[in-house]
Amino acid sequence: MSDLRFKVVEEAFDRKAIPVEIPSERPERYYGKYVFNRQKMFEYLPKKTYDALVNAIDNKEPLSREIADSVAQGMKRWAIDNGARHYTHWFHPLTDGTAEKHDAFIDHDGKGGVVEEFTGKLLMQQEPDASSFPNGGIRNTFEARGYSAWDISSPAFILDKTLCIPTIFISYTGESLDYKTPLLKALNAVDKAATGVAQYFDPEVKHVHSYLGWEQEYFLVDEALYSARPDLVMTGRTLMGHESAKNQQLEDHYFGAIPSRVEAFMLDLEIECHRLGIPAKTRHNEVAPNQFELAPIFEETNLANDHNLLLMSLISEVARRHNFRVLLHEKPFAGINGSGKHNNWSLGTDTGVLLFSPGKTPKANLQFITFVVNAMAAVYHHNALLKASISSATNAHRLGANEAPPAIISIFAGAQLSDILEKIEKSTTTDILEFASKSGLSLGLSQIPEIMLDNTDRNRTSPFAFTGNRFEFRAVGSSANCASAMIALNAAVADQLNAFKKKIDERVEKGDDLTHALLDEIRALIIESKPIHFDGNGYSDEWKEEAARRGLDCETSVPKIFDAYLSNESVMMFDRTGVFSKVELEARNEVKWEMYTKKIQIEARVLGDLAINHIVPVATRYQSILVDNLVKIKTLFNDDKYSEIVKQDLNTIEKMARHMSIIKDEVETMVNARKDANRLTDEREKAIAYHDNVVPRMETIRYHIDKLELMVDNEMWPLPKYRELLFIR
Ligand code: ADP
Ligand code: MG
Repeated sequence: MSDLRFKVVEEAFDRKAIPVEIPSERPERYYGKYVFNRQKMFEYLPKKTYDALVNAIDNKEPLSREIADSVAQGMKRWAIDNGARHYTHWFHPLTDGTAEKHDAFIDHDGKGGVVEEFTGKLLMQQEPDASSFPNGGIRNTFEARGYSAWDISSPAFILDKTLCIPTIFISYTGESLDYKTPLLKALNAVDKAATGVAQYFDPEVKHVHSYLGWEQEYFLVDEALYSARPDLVMTGRTLMGHESAKNQQLEDHYFGAIPSRVEAFMLDLEIECHRLGIPAKTRHNEVAPNQFELAPIFEETNLANDHNLLLMSLISEVARRHNFRVLLHEKPFAGINGSGKHNNWSLGTDTGVLLFSPGKTPKANLQFITFVVNAMAAVYHHNALLKASISSATNAHRLGANEAPPAIISIFAGAQLSDILEKIEKSTTTDILEFASKSGLSLGLSQIPEIMLDNTDRNRTSPFAFTGNRFEFRAVGSSANCASAMIALNAAVADQLNAFKKKIDERVEKGDDLTHALLDEIRALIIESKPIHFDGNGYSDEWKEEAARRGLDCETSVPKIFDAYLSNESVMMFDRTGVFSKVELEARNEVKWEMYTKKIQIEARVLGDLAINHIVPVATRYQSILVDNLVKIKTLFNDDKYSEIVKQDLNTIEKMARHMSIIKDEVETMVNARKDANRLTDEREKAIAYHDNVVPRMETIRYHIDKLELMVDNEMWPLPKYRELLFIR
């Protein structure tokens, strides 16, 4: 066996679980230990400062400089008490992860020494020299500087002995250069819009929160095996590898017993999560071998998203302690399931009502149906945009493949909700009057059966499903920043609710009864957004045809899917809700196209290198062994006998030659396609060229390499095979 492969496989298979240090305190004692939460604020801040800060957080009001100084003092004291020596503004640039630039808590004391230093100014705003973050030209066009500013709604925390302060990241002229800024704007928009509508049902409502419960799927690979796969190291996925004879056919991994090495890792991770205030709750094996999931209890969307980003860096760190590498890529292995990050999303009032949860009275259920139908209408009107919000070079491998939601957005409502929608759609004025007068029976809104609250019969093939008290946006990719999907969704729903409220208010002003107006507008929305409602099998080919007939967006080329951000409807919607200006949208799309190109470019380079410098040489060596052998055999037999016994060998030699020749040709074509694409200056055109001309070459190259894997002597194959990578013991 290839020496390296032999060594790493043995190393991986010998590995034992690493014991985890379990804290002696109970979980509620160490939960949030490293978070500057209200409890710590109360402990470390003067009463006046504490009250002012809490008021600013709860009512979304600005903080005075004086209060900020006082907060900074308390926060610094807490951080130093907990071992921190540095602080950083922690922000979410338009790359995959988070960004930080650490500064020590020190300043000159004027006597040749230093003092601990941290002020309100440093807490509230900084100017990181972060000019190399992608910005789509915004900072060239406007002003070179980018600012980070404290997001007081998300608590500061300590990670690796550094105080991390969640911040937004914007240009000098105010354009957002990150994910958090537009997310906060979208959450604000949906708060205002939904509060306006919720007040029809309860005038006491002052705020509506958006909630997010993400489910993070990931793969684990042993560190030694990982390091022997340059494709995993450089691109996060295997660019080649023949399917293992056994993978997920037996469905023995899903919800199966968790291997002890993995269990130790998970426990360690959960303890770390809890110390950082991430409410990690559920863990289980996923469908594919080596695939797992972690889900926390849902939280307010901005915080939930910070927690997901934090988790994504934490998980890699903890995995390494256990000699694993975590793969957050959407499709690390061909032929088995990819990883997603279901975004469970809902809206809830500050009076404690979940707006997508049916109630016990007709009135509560009218509210429920109002919000559900508006959400459906928003998803319908902006289905192309929502798809763009979850699209990326990496998620493209997962969407539309067998086990994942198709590259078409539709909504699964389930039997009971569908039944109610139908009843309302077919309702008459008499039904509505009957509803207003008493029971709501005829519309199915009197009491919605409990079973709906526990909507277990879920359609896994739907990218956007109603699941009893929330919607589950399943098309989101495992490596994505959830903000992208949450910005588009919350903004679209805000815009829809505003339009709805406008219509209702106009009708009521003209003397129409409120209930009547609501039901009538709901009925109109149900009819209008019918094309988005699909409870059937989203994986079927018939659905693709049907979706096209219904006018849903069916584009499959990722660079073209991004166009949806710049459609008239999207630009106007984002403008009305104040989430993005057109300039910002244009700049961000430049970044998306550029990122797409770069990802494919890196993959293509790695694949070209592996194909020509790793695979072809090994295959050639094996082929030459076969040829040598034939020459020797020939000395032993007469011509007739010889041709008879070497038939298969000749065949193999010829087949290998053919595969290698195609690989070499295709690599050359791929390199030329890349060169041609690189000459294009327009980012969109370039991304399209990569999609159309480079990606197909990569697929062909892989196909032929995987064929060679089955022919070449197992002992000689240089890269760990799927069967070795995928079964942790
Ligand atoms: P499943 O895998 O069956 O979809 P999980 O239990 O793994 O479900 O995950 C469900 C996720 O949905 C959890 O993060 C949970 O906290 C979250 N969730 C539950 N109710 C809501 C809600 N009303 N709004 C947002 N998220 C929710
Ligand atoms: Mg799940």
